[in-house]
Amino acid sequence: MKTLLSTLCLLLGAYAHTQPADLAIRGASIVDVTDGSIIYDQTVLIEGNRIVAIGTTDAVRVPDEAEVLEAAGGYLIPGLWDAHVHSAGSVGWHFRLYVAHGITSVRNMHSGAENPLELVLSIKRRVRTGELLGPRFLANGSIVDGDPPVWPGSVAVRNAAAASAVVDRLADDGADFIKVYDRLTSEAYFAILKRAKQRGIPVDGHLPFLIRPEEAAAAGQRTFEHASGITMGCASGADALRADYVRYLERVPEMAPYPEQMVEFFRLVRRAINARDPELCRQAARSFHEYGVATVPTLVANAGSDPQGFVADAERMDLLPHSVREEWRAIAEGPDLIGELLGPVNALIVENVRVLHDEGAVILAGTDVGNPFLVPGLSLHRELERLTEAGLSPLEALQAATLLPARVFGLEDSLGTVAVGKLADLVLLEANPLEAIANTRRIRAVVTNGRLFRRADLDRLLAAAEESNQQIEKQE
Ligand SMILES: [Zn+2]
Repeated sequence: MKTLLSTLCLLLGAYAHTQPADLAIRGASIVDVTDGSIIYDQTVLIEGNRIVAIGTTDAVRVPDEAEVLEAAGGYLIPGLWDAHVHSAGSVGWHFRLYVAHGITSVRNMHSGAENPLELVLSIKRRVRTGELLGPRFLANGSIVDGDPPVWPGSVAVRNAAAASAVVDRLADDGADFIKVYDRLTSEAYFAILKRAKQRGIPVDGHLPFLIRPEEAAAAGQRTFEHASGITMGCASGADALRADYVRYLERVPEMAPYPEQMVEFFRLVRRAINARDPELCRQAARSFHEYGVATVPTLVANAGSDPQGFVADAERMDLLPHSVREEWRAIAEGPDLIGELLGPVNALIVENVRVLHDEGAVILAGTDVGNPFLVPGLSLHRELERLTEAGLSPLEALQAATLLPARVFGLEDSLGTVAVGKLADLVLLEANPLEAIANTRRIRAVVTNGRLFRRADLDRLLAAAEESNQQIEKQE
């Protein structure tokens, strides 16, 4: 057996001898996120932006021209995803912070820009060519909502014909997915899902308030953002709440968007959470599992983000551009109306995520960065901790930010694990993340699209984020 192994090693060594590479990560412990095993003493060769060889360190020959990252004692994981961000208008400071924290892919859920697709397509192109340093960028065009929409910049649709036409336009213009929103009518919503299926474009977003979550899951919605799907799935008397929502929509034109519309809406959400029935919750979670709809609970964005604590924390505030710091300070001084409504039921929202997990529904790590008191990159690590507090193991939390987003977003052949042939998006940690998920914060190096950032480079990115003082767009 020993002879056979040495022969194999020799053969592999001989093969590796011919393998050119730009970068070698030498002697790492690779975390296999598919099953939680650790493969010790591995050397990873990267050529361009691809992983071209992986093997034990004595078997993989590092070519002379390759830059070497000594990784002994370190744990190598796939680059992390933040599956829910609003960064298109803030790439100047968001992108550096993502890379500095090991986030190599994001799904952008809306940009407030006038021509959102034009903006996000240019961001994607500049990231691809290396002109702009940042994560891989999946993005929608305008939000598709009912009439009037919650957010300015959304496309409002009233009926099936308009809904199909919007899907066609967004698909033609290069959106990665359609984002649906709270106020869609049943007619418009199901027309969107139907047309999107024909066009082969996924539908992500909020569970519209008037749609039953099981029906949305059955119709093929790919993700439910925040707790929207499971909250309504858990609520007893949800039909009465939906009837009240219709009455709310009738009054919307007379209400100011903020705070009236927002507060009234979150009152309904609070009522839904108050009406939580554990058995309904389990049934809903089971149907999410059955239909394969993923939830992106963004726990870190829920009540409990502690605005005052945030602005008092110099370490986090120092990461922000000056103008953002000032803006968030001002917001923290004002009343936290939504926090007051949802804060008292925060534990129930966490409980809902626990049920989703217990029933095997897919959970993805996302943050809602772009909103106040959320820091690009840093908040994703906090979200991983929150997910473990809701019952996920460290491995499952890690999967929620690596393997599962790659799978859900149809990119598993190029992302999500450390494997030969995949894109070189990697994070080298000082300690084993499976022992404590907080170890994902202890980053020794990041490789994004084949480009290496050592600790000193990452520290420079963190400092640069502080310097940057871009025009910050309002996001939601
Ligand atoms: Zn969002």
